[in-house]
Amino acid sequence: MCIFCKIIDRKLEAAWVYETTSIAVFADACPSAPGHVLVIPKRHVEKVTDLTELEAQELYRVVFLVQKAMVDVWQIPGQNLQINSGAIAGQEVMHAHIHVIPRKKARSGEAPIFVPLETRVLAVKGLKDYFDHLLEKSN
Ligand code: 5GP
Ligand code: ZN
Repeated sequence: MCIFCKIIDRKLEAAWVYETTSIAVFADACPSAPGHVLVIPKRHVEKVTDLTELEAQELYRVVFLVQKAMVDVWQIPGQNLQINSGAIAGQEVMHAHIHVIPRKKARSGEAPIFVPLETRVLAVKGLKDYFDHLLEKSN
């Protein structure tokens, strides 16, 4: 079983942010910026191109909701979406996922922030608590 499937099955800890019946959102363990999350299908497929068209639509719908939450609720003006599809494209975890990376400051000069273990294992009730927590730490 892959590491993301273990997270979905609650066999591995993660800072959960949001979920639907088919999609999971949790914090990236090594974020490029505070609030960096991964949006993934619960069904194991290696690459986004292995999803059905309907599954891809649902995945993007949730990416969009996460982005909207960042903009409307937490006033994070910009985000980067990143999809590494296939090892040749730098995909390291072979369970399809989309990175949503909040951008509060200019990318240059922004140091990667490592989220300590206690943050990762924190019981996160929802997007708001999670982002409030991370942004508080980064200010
Ligand atoms: P990729 O290069 O495959 O697109 O990115 C995989 C991402 O998964 C990386 O950003 C990495 O930090 C994250 N990651 C790897 N292992 C774990 C883990 O066990 N838990 C969580 N939450 N993220 C992980
Ligand atoms: Zn998997």
